[in-house]
Amino acid sequence: MAELETRYVFVTGGVASSLGKGVIAASLAKLLQSRGYSVTIQKLDPYLNIDPGTLNPYEHGECYVTDDGAETDLDLGHYERFLNVPTSQDNNVTTGRIYRNVITKERKGEYLGKTVQIIPHITDEIKRNIMLMGTRHKFDVVVTEIGGTVGDIESLPFIEAVRQLKWELGYRAMFIHLTLVPYLNASHELKTKPTQHSVKALLENGIQPDVLVLRSEHELSDDLRKKVARFCNVEADAVVQSIDVKTIYEVPIKMHEQHLDEIAMRKLQLPAKHDADMSDWIKFLEKRSKATETITVGLVGKYVELPDAYKSIIEALNHASTYNDRKLDLRLIHSEVVNADNAAEKLAGLDGIIVAPGFGQRGTEGKIEAVKYARENDIPFLGICLGMQMAVVEFARNVLGMEKANSSEMDHTTPYPVIDLMESQKNITNMGGTMRLGGYECKLKKGTHAYEAYGKEFVRERHRHRYEYNSKYLSDYEKAGMVASGVNPETGLVEIVEIPSLKWFVACQFHPEYSSTVLKPHALFMAFVKAVIASKN
Ligand code: GLN
Repeated sequence: MAELETRYVFVTGGVASSLGKGVIAASLAKLLQSRGYSVTIQKLDPYLNIDPGTLNPYEHGECYVTDDGAETDLDLGHYERFLNVPTSQDNNVTTGRIYRNVITKERKGEYLGKTVQIIPHITDEIKRNIMLMGTRHKFDVVVTEIGGTVGDIESLPFIEAVRQLKWELGYRAMFIHLTLVPYLNASHELKTKPTQHSVKALLENGIQPDVLVLRSEHELSDDLRKKVARFCNVEADAVVQSIDVKTIYEVPIKMHEQHLDEIAMRKLQLPAKHDADMSDWIKFLEKRSKATETITVGLVGKYVELPDAYKSIIEALNHASTYNDRKLDLRLIHSEVVNADNAAEKLAGLDGIIVAPGFGQRGTEGKIEAVKYARENDIPFLGICLGMQMAVVEFARNVLGMEKANSSEMDHTTPYPVIDLMESQKNITNMGGTMRLGGYECKLKKGTHAYEAYGKEFVRERHRHRYEYNSKYLSDYEKAGMVASGVNPETGLVEIVEIPSLKWFVACQFHPEYSSTVLKPHALFMAFVKAVIASKN
């Protein structure tokens, strides 16, 4: 069979930000995938950072890490959780990266003396990055989400680039525009004017949307849809509503009910393969809604005001709870307020405790107290990255009697740097993209909780950290009851520690949350939730 020529779907947003473009993009991609196509999703971010790796989580939420070591936007997490297919460096492109590439080429003289300009040089570089998903990665369908809101100065080059691509690709490209239909309480009315204006703004940029997805808090009438269709040159059935649902995982089903996948296939002239098969997905949703018993899990971190900072952890816990037929009562606990005097009160009633990743000193003493509380009260515990490092520090201070033990990130004069910088990290001055990033192998020790969770000896997990377990102290730890249950087979670096005498106390240097998906919950989260249930009973 001849290879399918790649189709491109561009998703733009209007009226307001945070309407959920990523979820709409992921939902359409999921539906097309369930019809037998290979699909990927790409995010274009209009900011000047090369990648979000150096951004404070307060700015953009969690930084999501791909297996090939790219630090990316948290929307890529949704893409992987929906599609169950790994993303890569090429799935997230920022304005900063586009400009860097163009300027690097200019310095090399590759533009042969031409004046380098936004059009065509920046737009060509954007187009090249979009097309890579087809040419390099050979996907049947590429859904490209354009960050920002139409009308923003920053996203103009992206909009211009996709306008040109549509012209070049013809039926192989289409546009979906997501807007907001606000409800006015005073007049009990849904208002379509902002949508009309937003489509006008797109038209001014030469883009005619093929599909409109209207976010709304209320059901949209047929008349309203027809009105929007008429004003915006869109077919009536191509005006789709997206109203609030209990979980974002219901959105693909809602989109399917309104035939979004069929409409896209028609516009893109995609040959039909088979009907959408969403049976496993629907099973997950049914399990989720049927669960009656609850588990209460505390997530201790310093970004609790902004749950997006822990997006993947929260989702991974949701997946594992659902597959264990439990409702999740998640308590976000601010690590800065936990101390030795109030730990029992702040952590009361928790069936399980997770200590979160993070950078810098703030809130780490509270994390150490939370670890101590979990260890002394034998509450199932999962430490992730900095959470693992703090578990190692806690054990040093309170079990091994190493007073003032710490990670050298928090205290570079500590007498016991049980977490320390690797030689290879010591001379690094650039902050961006220089941590231990992406997938690494880990060898598990038989007979440990980690081995039991995964059920195999070799696993691959994603990392994002600079500091490491200091193996100099390993034998002290093992003698006192905290063992290394997972190590990197090449470097010997300790990747997982656990306390075998406790019910379930496991901490990992990597981020298991990045690879938990709706159809494939992560082994460690599954084991953690199982331990929580067992300990509760
Ligand atoms: N700050 C720690 C380090 O750099 C942990 C990082 C993290 O939790 N992602 O090693």
